[in-house]
Amino acid sequence: MIYWDHNSTTPCAPEVVEAMREFWNEEFGNPSSSHIMGHRSAVAIQRAREQVADLANVFPPEIVFTSGATESNNLLFLGILLSPSTERKRIVVSSIEHKSVLEPAYLLKGYGYEIVKLPVDRRGETKVDAAKKLITPETLIVSVQAANNEIGTLQPVADLAEIAHENGAYFHTDAAQMFGKLPLDVQAVNCDFASFSAHKMYGPKGIGALFVRGGPRRWPWAHPFLGGGQESDLRPGTSNVSAIVGFGAACRLANDFLKENSAYLYQLSEKFIRELKVVEPQVIIINEINSSLPGTLSIIFPGIPADLLIAHCQEICISRASACNGAIGASHVISEVLQNSCLEESVVRVSFGRDSSPDDFGAFFRILKKIRSGV
Ligand code: PMP
Repeated sequence: MIYWDHNSTTPCAPEVVEAMREFWNEEFGNPSSSHIMGHRSAVAIQRAREQVADLANVFPPEIVFTSGATESNNLLFLGILLSPSTERKRIVVSSIEHKSVLEPAYLLKGYGYEIVKLPVDRRGETKVDAAKKLITPETLIVSVQAANNEIGTLQPVADLAEIAHENGAYFHTDAAQMFGKLPLDVQAVNCDFASFSAHKMYGPKGIGALFVRGGPRRWPWAHPFLGGGQESDLRPGTSNVSAIVGFGAACRLANDFLKENSAYLYQLSEKFIRELKVVEPQVIIINEINSSLPGTLSIIFPGIPADLLIAHCQEICISRASACNGAIGASHVISEVLQNSCLEESVVRVSFGRDSSPDDFGAFFRILKKIRSGV
């Protein structure tokens, strides 16, 4: 099987699996317990917290483990929803945010908040000039992803954080896609909050984190989840120790190999596009390779419906839009960027990972030739 869907999820790295193994059935102590086995689990969590914090360049107590970026994003907006009303009633998001930001943000609309969407250009980059006008002193929070999951475009998050802070607003970035694939210095970007996910970066599924500047004690809103003291009361519930350990191990690996992996993936994408254009001169690449996530390509195959291409790719995993949108259906990201419904049907995402090889290109090109020749 050829797996070219790494923005959806990546395989767990062998080193990560190895690090997790003993926490499944040997070191199974509940980290909240005061006995020795509980203590050993708590120490493992602390080590993982340091590893995640190290990759993000933040302090370990500022990392709150959650079940993933969806939960981190929801935690933020539900916290606002459940808090006493503030003077600031404006929430600014980019128009191509993941649904786990857009949907909870829009929930607030029913409670007196105004949701303002920042426009993006043809490559999916948020327009900073528009942001300067739309982020106002009435803004409570600005939430813009670090990189888009469908087209890979990197966003000018440091500039947007500065504009947010000039207006006295908080800045949050959903960094699920960027974390572990490119360097992300959360301090330098000056985020107040950031969401992370382990399974995009060779870690396990079902684990992620929310960075909270100053730590959970400085959380400015209500706690949406109640009934336990874990993660400083902000995310109660028995900690998933093996997954947290795996996330930490994935962060350590990313710290060691991030430069090497990203350089390889940029080269691989360039080579793929060069060779693809020989086979299919009419293809259009939506994103700019060098200002996108490494290995991510959003490609229009004019005249070939994406579903048809995917159906022909029995041995090759490529995708239409984000897995979180479901396998079929329109993508709000592609609609925003293309503004052309005829082409929308023909957009395919290819996202390579560190195990992807140019040796597999031929199999894909043969499928394309077959479809074009009507066989
Ligand atoms: N945000 C972005 C940008 C994502 O790509 C994803 C996963 N596709 C999520 C949030 C959700 O992350 P998780 O699967 O960890 O809940």
